[in-house]
Amino acid sequence: MIVKPFRISLAVATLVLGAWAGWGQSGRDWPVHDRSRPQPEIVTPGTFSMPEEPGTPPSDAIVLFGGTDLSRWRSQKDGGPAPWKVENGYFEVVKETGGIETKEGYGSCQLHVEWQAPSPPKGEDQDRGNSGVFLMGLYEVQVLDSFGSRTYPDGQAAALYGQYPPLVNASRPPGEWQVYDIAFEAPRFDDDGSLLKPARATVFHNGVLVQHASELTGPTEHKARPPYKAHPSRLPLSLQDHGHPVRFRNIWIRELRERPARP
Ligand code: MG
Repeated sequence: MIVKPFRISLAVATLVLGAWAGWGQSGRDWPVHDRSRPQPEIVTPGTFSMPEEPGTPPSDAIVLFGGTDLSRWRSQKDGGPAPWKVENGYFEVVKETGGIETKEGYGSCQLHVEWQAPSPPKGEDQDRGNSGVFLMGLYEVQVLDSFGSRTYPDGQAAALYGQYPPLVNASRPPGEWQVYDIAFEAPRFDDDGSLLKPARATVFHNGVLVQHASELTGPTEHKARPPYKAHPSRLPLSLQDHGHPVRFRNIWIRELRERPARP
């Protein structure tokens, strides 16, 4: 068979362009040190939390809970006001009232959440300080009292539930405030509903890297790993009622933005 040189060069060009695009710098990207490239927006950083006092969010964050009210949340059961208890700058799960979710939807984001397992601790295994942060309502970063308490590794604190145990167990004791800083990339779907790009999550637990761009296999579930099902690019963030009085404070979110492409 005769292969025309044109076909070969086309194939090579496609391969080269493909590899280039794969580096995250597309063919339309900026030359090195281009001073006409847009300047990043200025964001005033917040402050870090102390045990007694939560820190402040960066200036461009959406504050989902700032210490006083759950007005940005609603009941998952009936869409009414979030039925959990708010006091002393935190809120607490009220068992059997169901989970709560944000009124707005979010996709790819940076999320900061502080939580505290009940003290004195009660129960063992999964029945101990259990709640959960569900990105897009589907992808759970487990909240659990994993300080000196064992469970299946892919279900302990900071696990992507049922899929990835944390790289290390960075838990603080029950009754102390703990922090999740999460970078989440929403999955992408084609128009026909097929998966283009899986969701990925990076998680710091109390400042310790415990998930590094972990690629989710689909929604997180108990005893199952279901496949992806196409969904909108933004969905409410939810918190789980697992029947335990877990507390939360200082929750804020920043939507991840794309870098500006070259015109
Ligand atoms: Mg949970």
